[in-house]
Amino acid sequence: MTIAREACLAQDRDDPLAFARERFELPPGVIYLDGNSLGALPKSVQPRMEDAIRREWGRDLIASWNTAGWYTAPGRAGERLARLLGAKPGEVTITDSISVNLFKLLVAAARMRPDRREILAEAGNFPSDNHIVESVARLLGLEPRFVPAGEIASAVTRDTAVATLSHVNYRTAEMQDMAAVTAAIHAAGALVVWDLAHSSGAVELDLDGSGADFAVGCGYKYLNGGPGSPSHVFVAERHQAAFDQPLQGWFGHADPFRFEDGFAKAPGIRAALCSTPPILSLLAFEAALDAFDGIAMRDVAAKGRALCDLFIALADEKLARFGVTLATPRDGSRRGNHVSLRHPEAFGIVRALIARGIVGDFRAPDAMRFGFAPLYIRFVDIFDAVAAMEEVIATGAWRELAPVEAGAVT
Ligand SMILES: *Cc1c(COP(=O)(O)O)cnc(C)c1O
Repeated sequence: MTIAREACLAQDRDDPLAFARERFELPPGVIYLDGNSLGALPKSVQPRMEDAIRREWGRDLIASWNTAGWYTAPGRAGERLARLLGAKPGEVTITDSISVNLFKLLVAAARMRPDRREILAEAGNFPSDNHIVESVARLLGLEPRFVPAGEIASAVTRDTAVATLSHVNYRTAEMQDMAAVTAAIHAAGALVVWDLAHSSGAVELDLDGSGADFAVGCGYKYLNGGPGSPSHVFVAERHQAAFDQPLQGWFGHADPFRFEDGFAKAPGIRAALCSTPPILSLLAFEAALDAFDGIAMRDVAAKGRALCDLFIALADEKLARFGVTLATPRDGSRRGNHVSLRHPEAFGIVRALIARGIVGDFRAPDAMRFGFAPLYIRFVDIFDAVAAMEEVIATGAWRELAPVEAGAVT
């Protein structure tokens, strides 16, 4: 039985989240399957930015640190985000980038296990994470050890200070069982830093219920905060008193405007901050959260799973005969909201699709990655995207494209 386009349209008519698409500006004629890399623009962002620029910055100037709540914006946005992460409001703040926050959290965790010699990390994780792991290890005189994500739970030892891994792998979308892996790490007396880059805003999370110690996540992927949007940091309440992160700057000081010489750590999650936030980006991120108002992550995750299931079924039906293989788990309970396919001509296929308004991305050496942001992707978009891919591969359409300039962002 082949899947008909009409059946996909029927799924859209039955979709309880269909209304959320209206909350986004989406360019006409484009099927955007790259929201896992840069989320689409929520309609709530532009009016908020205009007000922030004209009134708060342009007219009220420095007073806006207080009158417009700029000073408290990191914690305020974090409180709002906490609901989507399964965290308590005082456990999340918005600051810096994933890599910088990972650095802060790994050092802080290692400082809580001073007698241990090792940082355990995920082989095949996003490279920046492991670049940070290696530098932290060098800085603190620890040994870095890398094993595949599925082996972290069995590889952790009494010598491991901290383990770090992605909840959803950026390449394969394989999802780890956060509660089980965290329990295994704790059983060895170690701490865990989860990377939620492809989880926050995409899948259902229960950071508190899973016993997570620390986590970092991304503002510009499924949370749609815009290019360069600041990252989020989770520090479990039980660790906040002992939390000692290395970038101790004035925004993490208990009373920054006393301008004292010595450092006195701020209480709570504010200690995760270092310095002056990028206020415009932070306000854009906060406004982007409006897109999730009144929406439960359970429903977002369920739709994401259904979108990926449809994509995989259509890929089996239309693409497998061209040698396209699946690099993502078939089991929806072990997968995030993107699907990666492999083909030797992946780079050309992705470029030819982009030329047709179907935007996915290429991840070297041979992966085509398609993200399905459940708030704005329709089932019919998936049908149309796979039909276009079938046409591109059957005709070898990429051979007609001009060569790519060296150094271009792909
Ligand atoms: C996207 C992504 C990053 C990006 O890191 P930045 O420091 O925010 O540039 C890091 N880690 C993972 C796993 C990612 O998917």
